[in-house]
Amino acid sequence: MNKSKFSIESETVHADHPKNDPFGSHVMPIYQTSTFQFDSVEDGRKFFAQEEGGATHSYSRLGNPTVDRLEAILARLEGSDLPDSDDISALAFSSGMAAISTALIAMAKQGTVVAQPALYGCTGQFLKEEAPELGIDTHFLDLNDLDALDKALKENPEVKVIYAETIANPTMEVVNISAIADLAEAYNVTFIVDNTFGTPYHVRPLEHGADVVVHSATKYLNGHGTLIGGAVVGRNTLLEEFNLATYRKNLGGVMSPFESWLLLNGLKTFNLRMERHAENTMGVAEYLDQHEGVNKVFYPGLQSHPDYNLTSDMFDGGYGGVLSFELEGGFEAGVQLMENVELCTLAVSLGTADTLIQHPASMTHSVMDEELRLQAGITDGLVRLAVGIEKIDDIIADLKQALAKIEPATG
Ligand SMILES: *Cc1c(COP(=O)(O)O)cnc(C)c1O
Repeated sequence: MNKSKFSIESETVHADHPKNDPFGSHVMPIYQTSTFQFDSVEDGRKFFAQEEGGATHSYSRLGNPTVDRLEAILARLEGSDLPDSDDISALAFSSGMAAISTALIAMAKQGTVVAQPALYGCTGQFLKEEAPELGIDTHFLDLNDLDALDKALKENPEVKVIYAETIANPTMEVVNISAIADLAEAYNVTFIVDNTFGTPYHVRPLEHGADVVVHSATKYLNGHGTLIGGAVVGRNTLLEEFNLATYRKNLGGVMSPFESWLLLNGLKTFNLRMERHAENTMGVAEYLDQHEGVNKVFYPGLQSHPDYNLTSDMFDGGYGGVLSFELEGGFEAGVQLMENVELCTLAVSLGTADTLIQHPASMTHSVMDEELRLQAGITDGLVRLAVGIEKIDDIIADLKQALAKIEPATG
């Protein structure tokens, strides 16, 4: 298919068609093999010498046709509108964390990372606990305070990476990617953006000047909650400069052919799903916002959100599928809500077709020191909702009946 002839929406629907399949398979087969046969010694020699005309694959940790096909569409999703879109490539990893840690190890080595304080839990833990042992220190800073960022970059020439998330938990804070990218360029620092929550449906950080995009493909890219996977997307020249493919090969966190195939399958409906996730989430946010049992709703699509204008300028087609809200009744109300929902699934994660709900204070963050938890913005009554693609009336009706069952605190 001529890549640029059709829209990225249509390209995504067709992304898993194999070229020259010997049996004419309609969808990309799962090349479930660890190694590949060479036709001849010369064929194998050419592969390892990276000469044209030899074998295309040797061993699945180094490359696999099903994984290659997935990587091609991921690169298109993040970079198809760029003038140098042919130079954008993607590497698929065994998990979002494999993608993130491998990118940080390769790009920040023996240097400093400047990151926003509200980061995905494991990313924050990696930067605070393991990365320092590898010679990578992190300076946590509000990345929307551009003066503070400028000062930090000026005063710390050892900064190698700026790391941000397009929408960060729990307050759904959004960073100004192009303003940060300008500073990153001025100080010759690599700017990495985790676009898991934003997704390329709404925002493509490379178009706004970011250097590298990382993903947990576990979430919206797959969309069905059937796998763990990740990706790094960026310009070939940059990924090569940092030897990212070699890091992946030797650290070994490569995606499997089966997971790649599931992702190719999930991606066919990516645009449809995101459209519905965003529409439903906006409706749920508006509903919760006027509910008397709810103190506050955090969703960048609400005009009351501090980053509403910034997000509206940067995002297309909505504001993603995750929101959080604070219950008037605090901790007890959170527990009761979890116990009363019937349609919403009580589970962590996001980006599945069904609506997932969780109460961090009694679940994911229950063992965390209370003071640290509150500092991180995870209040007693905070609830996280990853809105699915069910009929919106049903989602709202479920929340309505569950909220109505919350009993007022006594004493
Ligand atoms: C889930 C998630 C990750 C980690 O991805 P895994 O696939 O679980 O390893 C990283 N960043 C964000 C924003 C996530 O939501």
